[in-house]
Amino acid sequence: PSIPDLLRSDRPAFSFEFFPPKDDAAEATLWEAIRRIEQVDPAFVSVTYGAGGSTQDRTVRITEQIAQVTTLEPMAHLTCVGASVAQLREVIGAYAAAGIHNVLALRGDPPGDARATWAPHPQGLSHADDLVRLISSLGSFTVGVAAFPDVHPESPDLGHDVEVLVRKADAGAQFAVTQMVFDADTYLRLRDEVAARRELPIVPGLMPVTNFAQIARMSQLMGTPLPAAVIARLQPLADDRAALRAEGVAIATELGERMLAEGAPGLHFITMNRSTATLEVLGRLGGIPTDCQRRIRAGARASRPVAA
Ligand code: FAD
Repeated sequence: PSIPDLLRSDRPAFSFEFFPPKDDAAEATLWEAIRRIEQVDPAFVSVTYGAGGSTQDRTVRITEQIAQVTTLEPMAHLTCVGASVAQLREVIGAYAAAGIHNVLALRGDPPGDARATWAPHPQGLSHADDLVRLISSLGSFTVGVAAFPDVHPESPDLGHDVEVLVRKADAGAQFAVTQMVFDADTYLRLRDEVAARRELPIVPGLMPVTNFAQIARMSQLMGTPLPAAVIARLQPLADDRAALRAEGVAIATELGERMLAEGAPGLHFITMNRSTATLEVLGRLGGIPTDCQRRIRAGARASRPVAA
């Protein structure tokens, strides 16, 4: 079944997001995570797209490998950053040639300074809806797009974001995935406003926080501050790794439970290329069958380094 079909089925569709690894050691860690996540048979997995040439090549390579050597359904992220339409066509062609037919169509952000203003490539595309149209015109792709429950930092208000999602749906987008959610109500509000206008499944992004400095930096880069209630739970534990991780897993589990109970079509886990915390959340949500849990535990024991 296609990703949109899975998102419309009765069972929640769980998916996982990775980023292209920087070096061989990071790539080995990523593959360990991919192999463990493969055991829980997710709806799909996705690989983010960086701003530079070499990281973009890695995204293409890793996504192709996932398609070729695993049983997973891969989705490639693609942005308009620094690319002409001809270059975008080339990347889309490479994905199609490798058997990758799911693409998350994004505008992307200007590289470097988080405050830099967006300027399209002179022969490129201005907005994600243009990329949705380009991808759809090049073959039978399943196209997803980004959504922002906390309102996109360049957007005047939620109403504008809803309008943008309507435009993306009309351009051919078949589902949306949100920026990581830390307040379930913001997700539900956006979901309901879009549902009143178009039939576009919106999957909430979820990240179990395991490192306070990292999430503080990420939320600054995303332009969306963490809710005060989440800061109040995590900040006092910032220097206690185990306690922070336990609280991060608890918060993600509570958010996931609430959004699924309110009818979210699935959850898209931002893994940071690790599997343990996300699989723990998934297990608590009842998303891992018992025989699978046994296999995952056995795999974890097997991959532990042998003491000298
Ligand atoms: P757009 O939809 O183009 O929106 C950008 C801004 O323009 C918004 O303020 C919107 O309101 C406005 N806008 C959109 N369309 C129009 C229009 N037609 N006319 C006027 N205004 C318009 N970034 C990466 O670099 N690589 C990734 O792999 C990546 N993956 C992501 C995955 C998810 C799930 C999400 C939520 C974000 C991801 N991002 C990624 C970040 C994303 O690229 C940025 O947040 C970017 O600023 C917005 O991208 P977009 O696709 O929503 O852009």
